[in-house]
Amino acid sequence: MLIIDCDLCTACGICEGNCAFGAISVQDDCAVVNESCTLCGACVESCPVEALRIEVAEKRTQDNLDDYKGILVFAEYRHGTVAPVSFELLGIGRKLADQRQVDLSVILLGGKVGGYSEALIAAGADRVLLAEHTDLEQFREDVYAAVLERVISESKPEVVLAGATAIGRSVIPYVATALNAGLTADCTRLEIRESDGMLLQTRPAFGGNIMATIECPHTRPQMATVRPKVMAPAEPDPTRKGEVVALNVAEYVPASKLEVIETVVNDEDQVNIQEVEALVAGGRGLDSAKGFSLLRELADELSGTVAASRAAVDSGWIPYPHQVGQTGKTVNPKLYIACGISGAVQHAVGMQSAEVIVAINRDKAAPIFDLATYGIVGDLYEVVPQLIRKIQEVKK
Ligand SMILES: Cc1cc2nc3c(=O)[nH]c(=O)nc-3n(C[C@H](O)[C@H](O)[C@H](O)COP(=O)(O)OP(=O)(O)OC[C@H]3O[C@@H](n4cnc5c(N)ncnc54)[C@H](O)[C@@H]3O)c2cc1C
Repeated sequence: MLIIDCDLCTACGICEGNCAFGAISVQDDCAVVNESCTLCGACVESCPVEALRIEVAEKRTQDNLDDYKGILVFAEYRHGTVAPVSFELLGIGRKLADQRQVDLSVILLGGKVGGYSEALIAAGADRVLLAEHTDLEQFREDVYAAVLERVISESKPEVVLAGATAIGRSVIPYVATALNAGLTADCTRLEIRESDGMLLQTRPAFGGNIMATIECPHTRPQMATVRPKVMAPAEPDPTRKGEVVALNVAEYVPASKLEVIETVVNDEDQVNIQEVEALVAGGRGLDSAKGFSLLRELADELSGTVAASRAAVDSGWIPYPHQVGQTGKTVNPKLYIACGISGAVQHAVGMQSAEVIVAINRDKAAPIFDLATYGIVGDLYEVVPQLIRKIQEVKK
């Protein structure tokens, strides 16, 4: 952490000017740091009176790393089904387990969820750990975290994988903290280093401008969340055999501090741009919310739906569930038509794996053309109506 010695600080403000994150400011004759601090050290170097220093917490090293074996996937059960990301995690989990020559287990929490065991085994699991209890019917962070912590402490997997979804993102940090384990959020690539079996966890960093590979050499399990649609699920094999273990969770399901009064499914949340084969996406180039009506017409012709860049979402033209990119969703449809989108790296990471990318942009130097299978240089308000007409003609 950043330590500020107010006896030495002269409130000169040099550190404030040198902080790229707006994390330090001078208040009442001394510098004050806020939660935006990344510990980059720029302020420490710039301080002429050495009033700032970074103290690194002592590294915790477990001495029983070898006791941890196997890969565990946290499967998510919501809205009456197992979330697709769970099958994607089993796809990558299977590869990691084969490389490490260990078992792949999956834990499923819920009321009565045993009926999904076969599908989880067919998707690659060697073992399904079933945590069935009425108190697990509704997702509540504290209860789920307590059960996961207990099961992980007892089963000692070397790797735990979860979806970087609303549920995964809220419960897994709880569990990692309770276990004192390292956690890498939002991974886009996972692999095993052959020389020592370490899990290499890669994720975008610094606004998506670099890819950082993170390892947790000193603690177990190595925990990672993975964004939906980044990993491919394995082709289901109904002949696969696996073990189903019913966990006796009744003895350790804690009383919750949370009460779920009502579950309301937001209509907009029903938009699942990740499940659609054709996406027509609009960006700032649309210039107004009305542009999405035109894109919707094109999407309807293609039996698809509309998506958006963050600029369009931030402008209030379309709600967030439509956003593609680093802070939105990752999609890989058969067809992605980008209209008035420049192709910033934070957008590209969410759509570059689409099978066919069509870019419509009036700037022929827009980076989106570097990703596009087909590029159309022109005004989208001229090009899109022509495309709609052409599709209608072909359909006739
Ligand atoms: C930490 C972080 C996370 C981010 N996460 C995301 C994310 O998840 N998703 C995301 O999209 N962005 C994200 N961004 C923002 C990203 O950097 C870009 O600012 C954003 O993607 C730009 O959106 P855009 O392409 O719609 O707008 P612009 O970059 O402004 O591009 C508009 C394009 O439209 C073209 N155009 C204008 N008028 C027309 C017309 N009539 N016909 C045809 N073309 C036209 C222009 O030539 C231009 O290329 C993030 C940024 C940061 C820092």
